[in-house]
Amino acid sequence: MSGSNRGAESEERDVVALNPLFARPGEATELPRNVLPAGESLPETAYQIVHDEAMLDGNARLNLATFVGTWMDPYAQRLYEETADKNMIDKDEYPATAAIETRCWKMLGGLWNAPDPQDTIGTSTIGSSEAAMLGGLALKRRWQHARRAAGKPADRPNLVLSSAVQVCWEKFCNYWDVEARYVPISLEHKVLDGHDLEKYVDENTIGVVAILGVTYTGMYEPVAEIAAALDRIQASTGLDVPIHVDGASGAMIAPFVQPGLEWDFRVPRVVSINTSGHKYGLVYPGLGWVVWRDVASLPEDLVFRVSYLGGDMPTFALNFSRPGAQVLLQYYLFLRLGFDGYRKVQQASQDVALYLSGEIAKMPQFDLWNDGSDIPVFAWSLAQGHGENWNLYHLSDRLRLKGWLVPAYPMPADLDALTVQRIVVRNGLSMDLAHSLIDDLRAEVAYLDALSSPMPVEGQHPGFHH
Ligand SMILES: *Cc1c(COP(=O)(O)O)cnc(C)c1O
Repeated sequence: MSGSNRGAESEERDVVALNPLFARPGEATELPRNVLPAGESLPETAYQIVHDEAMLDGNARLNLATFVGTWMDPYAQRLYEETADKNMIDKDEYPATAAIETRCWKMLGGLWNAPDPQDTIGTSTIGSSEAAMLGGLALKRRWQHARRAAGKPADRPNLVLSSAVQVCWEKFCNYWDVEARYVPISLEHKVLDGHDLEKYVDENTIGVVAILGVTYTGMYEPVAEIAAALDRIQASTGLDVPIHVDGASGAMIAPFVQPGLEWDFRVPRVVSINTSGHKYGLVYPGLGWVVWRDVASLPEDLVFRVSYLGGDMPTFALNFSRPGAQVLLQYYLFLRLGFDGYRKVQQASQDVALYLSGEIAKMPQFDLWNDGSDIPVFAWSLAQGHGENWNLYHLSDRLRLKGWLVPAYPMPADLDALTVQRIVVRNGLSMDLAHSLIDDLRAEVAYLDALSSPMPVEGQHPGFHH
């Protein structure tokens, strides 16, 4: 859902007009909007039209709604231009890119404390959504093999997850015929934390998803506690249920900012982990990763072989052709930043998040839901007694007048009466910008508080918050 509907083409116009300043003698000044043009245009003309339209998108620097990277340094830009033609699947033509992909997921396996990083298996993907599909498919196939080997039916798989999972898990369950068993979050249990898990887990459970950095709020689900609950379930029922960690954001924060937190392969039940290279991996959109704790955790019959330098190379992916450039950009950043560089970058985001949540906590109008000390993301709601004349959607609109995109939206099922507003701090939201944001926030809250009658509520809708 887009906050702005500029792109929605609400008025049906059927031509795109060229700015007269760029028009060339003898060239068309209009092109059809929804029909393939009959003839050619000069490259400058086509460029100018696309360039001008793309300019109408928001200013990414002030977008505090998205987790996705919007800036890379000039050397990364250069690499991106040089490698835009690489096709990740063509390991025969691009063996160097294929080798670099392998190095990257081995590095991630090590970062996530795989018992033997050389015996892990993983792949790049187009994002965490594809990575989640692969992680989920591996859980499902492992469970099916075990059921069939035991002579039991394997046709009613279920997956246990928090009601606050990202939409990619709803898709996984829908697309691959797995029953989704949602554990509702509540004011006492703000995240999936293992309570009551025995009511959801049974012999048909293919796994439990733990989210490292819940999209709605930024909180970590306590992977070790969830694993301990599953240990108790195993002790009483014999069911051995694995965990997949959706670390779309947190798997690139926790290793650097909370190195003591045991959420990864140090927890024996964790069989696979995904992350988004294009979130806190700091790469442009189009990159995810998934790594399994060992080769045995990925069922062999899901793996296809493509030819590679005369031999063959295992692949596990939903797509066939896809860009290879993002993988090279990830490797560039791994070399460029190293562990210490990533630590500094992520710590800077954390510092800004803690500063912002601290300032918002001081305002009597708001109650913090969390403070950004997990991933640098936090949410707040209106304090009790506040909101007679305005709500968080109004505040979101007022901030948009200043260029800031700070979405408001309802919490998931069972808590959906509660509206929250959220800030995602990414690299690029400097302490300086954060000071300006707080100034603008205070000014807009003062404006809204000074109203003598209620703001209209027609047409309010949740902002983009995935
Ligand atoms: C963003 C997100 C996803 C989806 O990731 P993409 O890389 O955008 O496909 C999945 N899970 C969580 C927890 C996320 O925050």
